Amino acid sequence: MKLSKEINRRRTFGIISHPDAGKTTLTEKLLLFGGAIQEAGAVKSNKAKKGATSDFMEIERQRGISVATSVLAFEYKDIKINILDTPGHKDFAEDTFRTLTAVDSVIVVIDVAKGVEAQTEKLVEVCRMRKIPMLVFINKLDREGKDAFDLLDEIEQKLHLKVTPLSYPIGMGYDFKGIYNIWEQNINLFTGDPRKDIEDTIEIKDLATPELDELIGKDAAQDLREEVELAQGVYPDFDKNAYINGDLQPVFFGSALNNFGVRELLDCFITIAPPPLPKVSEEREVRPEEEKFTGFVFKIHANMDPKHRDRLAFVKIVSGKFERNVPYLHVRNNKKLRFSSPNAFFAEKKEIVDVSYPGDIVGLHDTGNFKIGDTLTEGEQMHFKGIPSFSPEHFRYINNADPMKSKQLEKGVDQLMDEGVAQLFKLEINNRKIIGTVGALQFEVIQYRLEHEYGAKCTYENLNVHKACWVEPEDEKSEEFKEFKRVKNKFLAKDKKGQLVFLADSSFSLQMTQQKYKNIKFHYTSEF
Ligand code: GDP
Repeated sequence: MKLSKEINRRRTFGIISHPDAGKTTLTEKLLLFGGAIQEAGAVKSNKAKKGATSDFMEIERQRGISVATSVLAFEYKDIKINILDTPGHKDFAEDTFRTLTAVDSVIVVIDVAKGVEAQTEKLVEVCRMRKIPMLVFINKLDREGKDAFDLLDEIEQKLHLKVTPLSYPIGMGYDFKGIYNIWEQNINLFTGDPRKDIEDTIEIKDLATPELDELIGKDAAQDLREEVELAQGVYPDFDKNAYINGDLQPVFFGSALNNFGVRELLDCFITIAPPPLPKVSEEREVRPEEEKFTGFVFKIHANMDPKHRDRLAFVKIVSGKFERNVPYLHVRNNKKLRFSSPNAFFAEKKEIVDVSYPGDIVGLHDTGNFKIGDTLTEGEQMHFKGIPSFSPEHFRYINNADPMKSKQLEKGVDQLMDEGVAQLFKLEINNRKIIGTVGALQFEVIQYRLEHEYGAKCTYENLNVHKACWVEPEDEKSEEFKEFKRVKNKFLAKDKKGQLVFLADSSFSLQMTQQKYKNIKFHYTSEF
C-alpha cells in the first residue's frame, strides 16, 4: 500500500514560542540535519522588527518572507518533515491559531532564562484545548538560566501540562557540560562548537558507571545521578499514547544556537510524533488512508505584486492523493476546480508538484474563490471543522474615504476578511461596519493594502469594545432572548457568516449581561 506508506512517513508540525526564545534558530538547525540547507543564516526570521509598526515596507518585507517560510519541508532518515511556520508576533496570533488546525503535533520552545512567557501561554492553551501532542524544547542552556526542576514546575503550573524530561542538563551557562539523554541513554558533551555533531555521543546505559565520573568529574556526576533519580521518581515514565493524546509532554534540553541537543530532539520526534491524524468534519471523521482526496484551506496569502492579483491558498491534505489537473469539488461554492500548477514547498523554494499526500501542504493559485476554512473533495458534500474565529482585541469603525471607490473598498474588505487578516462585524442598528483585529498592526496593514491593491481609501473611528462574544440562546423564541435583543440592541452585530455577536464595552457589562440572561451563552470563539 503506497498511500499508507507515504502517510506513515510524514510528520507535519509547528514550532511555537514567545518571540526570541529561538524558534527561527531551531528551525534552521532542523533543516541543516535534513540537508535541506547548507549553512546557517538561510532561514529568515519573519518577525516584525521592533518599533516597525508604521513602516509599511517592513510589513511588505515581512509578508514576502512569511510566504517563503510558510512551509518548510525536508527529508530526514526517510521521513518527510513539514514544518508549518507560526508567526510569533502577537499581532499575528490569529494566523498562528489557524495554522495550528493544520498541524499534527507541535514543538514548544522555551528560553531557559525567561521560562514560560505570555505568548507561549496563549499558544499552548490552544494546543491543549485541541489535544495536540506537544514536545517541549528548553533552549539556551549555554546561558545562565533557571534550575531545571523549577522550570519543569513552572511549565506544569503555568501551561497546565504534565511533563516528563527525556533529557537532562549537566550544569548550565558557564558550567554547562552537556546533556544526559534519558530517551537514548547516552551523554553528549558540550564543546561549544556548533559544527560538532554525533561523534561525541557516549553511551551510558547505567548512570552508576565510574566512566561518568571520568567524563564530567566526580561532583557533576554525583549531582547528575541524584537529579535524574529524583526526576524519574517525580515525573511519570514516558508513555507514547499519553503523549499522542495530549496528556503528557516530553521535555528536551539543549542549545539551538550551538546545535546542541537538536539531533536528539529530532530523532526522538520522528520516532514518537504522530503521522497525519484523522480529522473531523461536520458530517463524519475522515481518515488519511481513505482513497479519495480531501483537504481544507487554512491560510491564504495575497500576492505582493499588484500586477498579478492572484493569491496563494494553502491546503492541508487530509486524505487520499492530491493530483495536478484533476478536478476537485470546492464544497462551499459547489464548483469543480482544477489546478494546473499546485505548489509544494521545500526548505527555501516552492515547486510545481504532480502528487501530494496526507500531511502535505499544497499552495493553490486562487483568483478569489477561497476562504479560510474551505473544504475540497472529490465530490463529497463535506465540511471540515475547526477553524474558529477568536474574539478580536481591537475594534474600529471603518469608513469610506473616497466615495468614488466604494465598490473597490467593499471588494477589498471582503477579500482581506476571507484571507483572515481581520474580522468584519455589522452593527444591527445601523449597518455600520466594524473591523476587529488581534493587533493594532493589522489596521495599518488593511489601510495600506486597500489603497495599494484595490485603489480604495479608508479611515477609522475609535470604538470602545472590550470583547466580541458569539451569542447562543437556549431558545431563540424565548421572552428572555427577545428582551436581550431589545435591551442590548446597540451592542449587537452580525459577523460575516451572519452569526449574532454581542460587543461588550467592558468586562463588567459582560459579566452583568451573563448574570442577567442565564439561558443565553456567550462564547469567545465563533465555533461552539
Ligand atoms: P525566535 O524569535 O523565537 O525565532 O528566536 P531566534 O531564533 O531569532 O533567536 C533569538 C535570539 O536568541 C537570537 O539572537 C539567537 O541567536 C539567540 N539564540 C537562539 N538559540 C540560542 C541558544 O541556544 N543560546 C544562545 N545563547 N542564544 C540563542
